[in-house]
Amino acid sequence: NDKSLIVSFGEMLIDFVPTVSGVSLAEAPGFLKAPGGAAANVAIAVARLGGKAAFVGKLGDDEFGHMLAGILKENDVIASGINFDKGARTALAFVTLRADGEREFMFYRNPSADMLLRPEELNLELIRSAKVFHYGSISLIVEPCRSAHLEAMKVAKRAGALLSYDPNLRLPLWPSAEEAREQILKIWDEADVIKVSDVELEFLTGSDKIDDETALTLWRPNFKLLLVTLGENGCKYYTKAFHGTVDAFHVKTIDTTGAGDSFIGALLCKIVDDQSVLEDEPKLREILRFANACGAITTTKKGAIPALPSPDEVHKLLNA
Ligand code: ADP
Repeated sequence: NDKSLIVSFGEMLIDFVPTVSGVSLAEAPGFLKAPGGAAANVAIAVARLGGKAAFVGKLGDDEFGHMLAGILKENDVIASGINFDKGARTALAFVTLRADGEREFMFYRNPSADMLLRPEELNLELIRSAKVFHYGSISLIVEPCRSAHLEAMKVAKRAGALLSYDPNLRLPLWPSAEEAREQILKIWDEADVIKVSDVELEFLTGSDKIDDETALTLWRPNFKLLLVTLGENGCKYYTKAFHGTVDAFHVKTIDTTGAGDSFIGALLCKIVDDQSVLEDEPKLREILRFANACGAITTTKKGAIPALPSPDEVHKLLNA
């Protein structure tokens, strides 16, 4: 389609999700094999809502990698930014669903193919054509994908893209908490839109008070929008000119995997063609209501990608 392109850079993997909540995967009677990974979730969230999306990342040249590439194509995500690693396997995540719908992860990353993307493998032409470049998660943690990450960011920014960053903190994968904090805050200075969860806000600021004062300690002059997502309490937004809260929708939550990605994908979809909405509070609140609805719907089904909403589902919840 002729819409502006959103490029999502980073991981794609398979989540093994237990069929019941409240027990570990090993104790569950069964599990689902659900495609996910933050960057892929965002790309598919955008495409499912009718936007134009591309995924840039690396998969294993194995049955899981080819299955995932197929899922991107089926969902109309541009696949010309995908690389396959000849040696390493596709990343896997083993999820435990807690009784409250929150999840805990264990990863196969030994290393997985997504960590082995090299700068020279990037499809620079695709990245240069992005109007929005979204990134985050594990690609910052180790080489060579850290260099690929930084190069892709630089190329997108130089070509004029809006940069959107979601740290997707995976603390156990970092060498240390200090390094995680330092690296995340270092690339902070390159972003226009930042989304953090309440847990990440706590981690990055060292404060357990989730309030405006704490959130604003993260503010940088280069930001156009800072978002703090609060699960069932919706989200907070901060711009140079105004800030506020948009309440969540009440839904029957069973698995929160992918809610944040669905949320940010929805937002990016709505701002890619008109960034002036970032300066218009009523319009921005309307967009965040839409993003909250997308996040909420994603929590009502198991897995990430299978749970991303269609425009019809969002329309129904918005008008319920
Ligand atoms: P992350 O997945 O990054 O931790 P959140 O869990 O905060 O992000 O979810 C992102 C958004 O999805 C929230 O801002 C909210 O709008 C929606 N959402 C998440 N969990 C729920 C829930 N239990 N009920 C309703 N909406 C939710």
